[in-house]
Order: sequence, then structure tokens, then C-alpha cells
Amino acid sequence: MAESPRRPLALHWKILIGMALGILVGLVLNEHGGRITGSESSAVRTIAGAVVSVNKFLGDLFVSCLRFVAVPIVLFSLIAGAAGLGDLRRLGRIGGRTVAFYTATTAMAIVIGLALALAVRPGAMVSPEARDRLAAQYASEAATRIEQAEKLPGLLDQLLGQVLELVPRNPFEALATANMLQVIFVALVVGIGLTMLPRAVSEPVLRLCEAMTEVLVRFMRAVMWLAPVAVFALLAPAVAAMGPDILGALLAYALVLLGGLGVLLVVEYPLLLRLVGRISPARFFQTLAPAQVLAFSSSSSSATLPVTMRCVRQLGVSEEVTSFVCPLGATINMDGTAMYQGVATVFIAQMYGIDLSLPALLTIVLTATLASIGTPGIPGAGVVMLVVVLESVGVPPEGIAVILGVDRLLDMCRTVVNVTGDAVTSVLIARWEGERLEPTP
Ligand code: ASP
Repeated sequence: MAESPRRPLALHWKILIGMALGILVGLVLNEHGGRITGSESSAVRTIAGAVVSVNKFLGDLFVSCLRFVAVPIVLFSLIAGAAGLGDLRRLGRIGGRTVAFYTATTAMAIVIGLALALAVRPGAMVSPEARDRLAAQYASEAATRIEQAEKLPGLLDQLLGQVLELVPRNPFEALATANMLQVIFVALVVGIGLTMLPRAVSEPVLRLCEAMTEVLVRFMRAVMWLAPVAVFALLAPAVAAMGPDILGALLAYALVLLGGLGVLLVVEYPLLLRLVGRISPARFFQTLAPAQVLAFSSSSSSATLPVTMRCVRQLGVSEEVTSFVCPLGATINMDGTAMYQGVATVFIAQMYGIDLSLPALLTIVLTATLASIGTPGIPGAGVVMLVVVLESVGVPPEGIAVILGVDRLLDMCRTVVNVTGDAVTSVLIARWEGERLEPTP
């Protein structure tokens, strides 16, 4: 009897295996880093060091490939997409809905986070001794972040500055510096402009953009073959560098935030997908898994953007909606980061015995919404903007020293939520535009 051909393992399973192995090896390396002392163990330490270096190299290479694709794919696919949208009214409608939805889900995330932190009171569970020990341990790192935050203009100025900055002085500089909001602006101007030209003139340019998008998609497909190894390579050194001993004192804080992020992933998003998007949450999460795992491993929604776009396209969302909603989301929509800023502010306030009044809580909702919009989608950016939120309600910014020990782990988790929020919004906007969401390969 003929043997049935063995089906290759789906990519998302391979990526999940890479993730599990990365965490495992990271934990083993972490153990050794702590225990190995003395000259007889220097060989082991050298081997462990080499494993970490090679992994870091592979992970960085993968992220570089993604960064290489991000700007041109947004540019070419959005030019073609904007031209496909046809008229300015439709673009305005999609833009308005996207920004309104992004803002509403961000504020909602903060409210959920605040409610959990106020109910559980994780800050009250940290003894003053543990607080001072952690604060001393991370004092210099905290000082650097606070210094970075002090160089930033006020939140409103930042927001107005971002709007003003939408128009690049030089479109080529916007592309060269990967300023995503400006790249979106350039693509929209060119795409809409093309619809106003005679077809004979615009057609070749559009064909070029479509062909370039296809080239980049093929490159992405090739790069994704590396994803399982890259996820392993990104995770192993990150986990190896974590300090599990610190987790004890901060466990309640970390669990409150993880619980809040879980509410978004398991309750809010599936409800929105089922009731508004009329799409099966199981299909959504299965298709989005590569982007989520990559967000977890890289802690960067910007680096994950090309993969997020690919997954959203596979869900059946059109090129027009994907190429507009996803890059905008990677820049301004961060539900996980906003929730983190809310929970961390309440936690630090509780630790220092500061009571937050209702107006202070409303200030947190407002400032954390704006701060998350201003947070770039790169590792560890959320903690710099957290300083701004703390200062807005009079909580000592030095308090960030206490939470820095678990920040990398929480950064990985909030980035998953940030990326998922972008994909959920893309699906809903597509539905509102009457799209059928048929799966595509
Ligand atoms: N790492 C997050 C992101 O890229 C931002 C942050 O919260 O630090 O989405």
C-alpha cells in the first residue's frame, strides 16, 4: 500500500517550538550564569557566552531583514492601496474610524488595568525593605531612563509635534529615517495623486508599486523560513539575562498586569472579533500566531510590522486596509503599553503610600493614552514614557527602578497585545468596509 505523504509542520507550530526551546535554553543559561564561579568553570562560561553571542547574532540578523522590508513594503503597498481606495471621502472615513477605534481601545485597556491594580493593591504587598533594595539595585538604570524622559517635550507638545511632523520636509529623508507616520503621508499623497492622473500615465506607476510589493512579499516569505530559529535566537539570550530572584517581590505586580493583558486577549478582543468582526477568534489567533510569537521574542511592534501585515492579509483583509491600518497601529496604537503604564503608576504610588484621587486616576487615563501614542514600537520604550505619566500625578519617577527587574518580560507580553490590537482593528475596519474576509494563502 502506498504511504501517505507526510504533511510538513505548519510554520506557526515550528515558531512555537522555537519559542519553547528558546525559553528552555535561556533558563538553563540563566541558571549557569548565576552558579558558575571559579576558574574550573571558565570553559563552561565561555561556551555559554558563545551560545548567547551566536544566538544574538542570528536574532539581530532576522530583525534587520524585517526592518529592511518595513519601509518599502508600507510605501509601495500603501501607494497601490490608496490609489485603489479611489476617493478621498473613503480614505477619510477609514482614517477617522481607525484613529477613533485605536483611542477608544487604548483608554479601555487603561481603565481595565487601573481597576485591577486598585482592587488587588499589589504595591501594598511590597515591604519597604524589598522596595529600597530593588530601588538601589536599579538606581543608575532608572536615572538614565528619567534623563531620557526629561529631554522629551510635554505630552500635548509631543502630540501636536507628531501631527506637525506628519508632513516631512523631505520625503526621501522620511524614507531613509524610517519615520513611519511620514512614510504613510508620502504614500497617501502619491497614491491619491495617481488617481487624479489619466489612466495611461498612472497605470505603469501602479504596476511598478504592485510588482515591488510582490517582490517584498516574496522576500518576507523567504525570511519567515528563518523565523523558528530566529525566535529561538532572540529568546534564549533575553531569558538568560533575566533575574528570576527579583520576581518574588514583584510577583503580584507582574500578575496583575499579565491578568489585565490576558483580559484583553481572552475576553475583549475575541468579543470584538465575534460580535463586530463576525470572524472566528480561533481562526484569527491561529493566523496571527507568527506575529504574536515574534512580538514576544523581539519586544518590538515596529520590527514585527511586516509579519503582522502578512498575517492580516492571510485573514482576508484587503491590501488597502492592511497597508493603512497596520503601520498606523504599529506607531500610535499600544493597548498593552497603555495598560502597563496605568498599572505601574498605581503600583508605584501604592508602594510609596500615595493615594490616587479620582481626578488623578482620570489624569492617568488621559496621559497614558497620549503617552502610549507617543511610545515608539521598540524594546523598553514604554518605561521612558511611564516617567511622564508618573510625573503627571506627582508619583516619584525614581520608582521605576523598582520595576525594571521584570520589565523585559512584561515588555515582551505587552508587545504581543500591542500587535494583536492592531490586527483586531484591521479586521473590524475591513468588515465595516464591507470586506468578506476570505482566507488567503
Ligand atoms: N516594546 C513595545 C512595543 O514595541 C513598546 C513598549 O511598551 O515598550 O510595542
